[in-house]
Amino acid sequence: MTANPFIPELHTDDCDDTSCARCRTLTPSNLYEVDTWLDNANVFAKQYREQVDGELVITGLRIGQGENRIIAKFGNTIVRHYDGRHTVRPTEHPTDELTAAEWNARYPVGTPVTAYPGVRGENPLTTVTRSKAWTLSGHTPVALVDGHSGGIALTHLDVIEVAS
Ligand SMILES: [Zn+2]
Repeated sequence: MTANPFIPELHTDDCDDTSCARCRTLTPSNLYEVDTWLDNANVFAKQYREQVDGELVITGLRIGQGENRIIAKFGNTIVRHYDGRHTVRPTEHPTDELTAAEWNARYPVGTPVTAYPGVRGENPLTTVTRSKAWTLSGHTPVALVDGHSGGIALTHLDVIEVAS
């Protein structure tokens, strides 16, 4: 398989696999981008869902069909080999992106946060959460905060650690 000359072939930081043409660590944030990356290589990919604490949520991508299919979970690295095959390396880069259930186990409603309703890092809103987290559209964990109407992605909420 010839690599597309217009897409730089990148590797995760510590990749020393000489059969690897390109590899990418899958996270909730790049799910659609990675899905498109696979689609463009004519590789069948489909969101992979699992029950997590009673919620059916997307936990990764199913790649390929039939007995050759593989599952890449968030935090796993998807490796494209020079022969066009794909494999999955187990989690080497924790995504640090919490699921709704993980967030709720750590942070009760009323947790002080710095929220970024738009672009992360811009127009910070110092506030508190006013709902438990839930999974929007099956893939993006969000929560409500005081002073903003819509759900905000957990990746746009920085918990303000309060000295106890
Ligand atoms: Zn690589």
